[in-house]
Amino acid sequence: MFKNPIVAGNWKMNKELLEGVDFVEQIQSKFSKISNVTIIFSPPFISLSEIKVKPPFFKSAQNCFWEEKGAYTGEISTSMIKSCGAEYVISGHSERRELFGEIDEVVNNKNKAIFKEKLKPIFCIGETLEQRESGRTKEILSYQISAGLKDIDTIDELIIAYEPVWAIGTGMTATIEQIENAHSHIKTDVKELYNTINDVQVLYGGSVNLNNAQELINVPGVDGFLIGGASLDVDTFSSIIKIVGDNQEKKNNG
Ligand code: PEP
Repeated sequence: MFKNPIVAGNWKMNKELLEGVDFVEQIQSKFSKISNVTIIFSPPFISLSEIKVKPPFFKSAQNCFWEEKGAYTGEISTSMIKSCGAEYVISGHSERRELFGEIDEVVNNKNKAIFKEKLKPIFCIGETLEQRESGRTKEILSYQISAGLKDIDTIDELIIAYEPVWAIGTGMTATIEQIENAHSHIKTDVKELYNTINDVQVLYGGSVNLNNAQELINVPGVDGFLIGGASLDVDTFSSIIKIVGDNQEKKNNG
């Protein structure tokens, strides 16, 4: 099934409540007529319910806990996220893996909880520089996919974000060839794992910016972007949305 490209902004720990609300209002008013790109805002939890969106704009949480409720101080469940009107949840982000010790089993629990609540995971995977340099990229990606999706039967609404760890927030982007190879590997792997002919949507993330967005959106297998730093500024994020939308329009017109 044909799906629009996705431009998802991961704000990380940035923007207070009113800043976030204002930011989203500004972007939506600039693109009141856009219909060929899915745009996702991923604000901190404090803003998730206050931010109002209309398709093709959507909201995502940056994280979740896998239990439904109970004595888990500071945690947020997937049903709570849903009650804020969000449809997506980022899982497995490398910052959570690295800074908060989230191992693949934890990511798997979160993916299960996301699917159970009929939310859509933006499931992040990617190799470190050391893993790439030792020729283990494909092995790592395959492992993260199979471990993160363990015991999950249906993946209709799965989105994978390929985010080489060494390219996140560093200004270093992967090369066209590295991205093409990784996306192709991920799609093949998921097809084999689920015995399906359908391609999973795979976003690229890692220092996407105004200068490289045009080139990157044309890489075969790139179905959109997950953007950190460049998603925080109205003009920059708008320009990237426009690049992806214009590119899609050209594709649709043959
Ligand atoms: C991210 O946080 O998912 C990300 C890709 O960040 P940046 O665009 O800043 O590299």
